[in-house]
Amino acid sequence: MEVPRLETCIPLPLENVVLEELVDKAKDWALMNGAAMRSKLKFSKNELQFAPFMLLPSTFPKREFEKAVEIQPILNELMHKVAHNYEFLSESLKSTIEVDDFTKRLFHIYETVRNEGFAQPISLGLIRSDLMLESDPETCIGKECCPKNVIEKQGRVLCNPYCCWKQVEVNTIASGFGWLGPASRVIQRYVLQELGRVDLLPHLPENNALQGLCGGMIEAWKLYGKPESVILFVVEDVSYNICDQRFHEFEIRKMEPKVRVIRRTLTDLGKRSVLTKEKKLIIDDLEVAVVYYRAGYEPGHYHSELEWETRLKVERSCAIKCPSIQYHLAGTKRVQQALASPAVLEKFLDPSIAATVREIFTGLYSLDLSDEGNAAVEMALKNPAHYVLKPQREGGGNNLYGDEVKTMLEKIGKSKERCAWILMERIIPPVQRCYLIHPKSDAPLYTDVVSELGIFGVIIGDEKVIQKNFQVGHMLRTKIATSNEGGVSAGYGALDSPFLVEMESCCHPAVKK
Ligand code: ADP
Ligand code: MG
Repeated sequence: MEVPRLETCIPLPLENVVLEELVDKAKDWALMNGAAMRSKLKFSKNELQFAPFMLLPSTFPKREFEKAVEIQPILNELMHKVAHNYEFLSESLKSTIEVDDFTKRLFHIYETVRNEGFAQPISLGLIRSDLMLESDPETCIGKECCPKNVIEKQGRVLCNPYCCWKQVEVNTIASGFGWLGPASRVIQRYVLQELGRVDLLPHLPENNALQGLCGGMIEAWKLYGKPESVILFVVEDVSYNICDQRFHEFEIRKMEPKVRVIRRTLTDLGKRSVLTKEKKLIIDDLEVAVVYYRAGYEPGHYHSELEWETRLKVERSCAIKCPSIQYHLAGTKRVQQALASPAVLEKFLDPSIAATVREIFTGLYSLDLSDEGNAAVEMALKNPAHYVLKPQREGGGNNLYGDEVKTMLEKIGKSKERCAWILMERIIPPVQRCYLIHPKSDAPLYTDVVSELGIFGVIIGDEKVIQKNFQVGHMLRTKIATSNEGGVSAGYGALDSPFLVEMESCCHPAVKK
């Protein structure tokens, strides 16, 4: 069966002797430079394991990369405006919070602090917009495929190798890989050099995600305006993705030597933090200027009422939150779906800009108990392989695909539980064949893979004024083509970076020749 394919940056496979030596060196490079994680099988604070990575960078069309970079400040602004629009958030999440307890609790915190009056008007957004190349012309606006450039796969006409890119999701909480993203580029740079291909290095775009994200936190710390105050990382009970987090800490100290970063769990904060009369958040005698959540995005991070009370306590404080509760809600799947509904983007953006943003959305459908929701269910039941069913969860491993979509939709039928989910068109990305290096296996896996690009953005501001708004870098995650999900921390994907090439695409108006 034919699938749209991208050529790799160098001809493969490599000779065995070359490959073996290269893989050994690359693994050691990764370990010795902190492209690593803690093992989930055998956790120890004293040990690290290299993070799964692709031996060579993945081919990615330069024009699409540049478009993604260019649009990021607009997406930042959109999320900022959505986060500050109570009517839109409450209307979009109304049916979801009736059935999804986690989102309901978050929303309740939002309403509580809103009614009391926000102690801190400024929010810090460290956002990551994730996208995949799309080979299915059906979802692209203004499709007009060049007949030379299409192939058939399972009775579908697909663009070869792709026609545009589509957004997978926007992360507003714990947007990780600010370190592991750039680190993958450096591993692969080293590998290309070892292969004698210095000539290819200009194809690897600069990536200063770590400095950009840490710069955002430092900026927020300065706005808080107390030299002795600290930046607090709210972390999981056990952090597997420790290098990514620690490198942020190290970088902050490097960029602004006066700032101290502390790490606490929601439980620690529950037991030992204090909210003063002036709404200062104090933990272990330290005043917190900025709260950066690397936890708190899934129900498992809240063991009891204590952690929920703590989240509310933090939101009530005058510390600058990343994200604030309203930013967290703006990043839910349900809000993403609501933004894709007709005439919604225009509420937030100029019409011409709204039209550009609409092009990056694929089909997103509400499953509310309405005619619209019923029609979406019918469509999905007819063709489950074309859709992904998503609950209001983050962190990977929660979505349903193919037959699972059908089974779940049949199970929930017309019960209210349907409102907890959204339906999304399944993106079909082109594949390429490369070596995936995984700590679970000694031998590299030479296999077909697909990639997901994440672009980082930083935004700081309050309801009225946006003070800073930048794109700051990127990360690429790559997974085996047959696997549904690609999270590296969740164990499905591998670190990667884009190898940019000029490439034709046939049917997207924005990239038409
Ligand atoms: P999470 O918040 O758990 O990261 P995502 O929406 O990013 O949820 O989905 C997780 C993964 O599932 C993505 O990284 C991607 O690999 C895959 N995925 C999500 N949406 C789609 C889609 N519409 N088409 C194809 N794959 C998808
Ligand atoms: Mg995701």
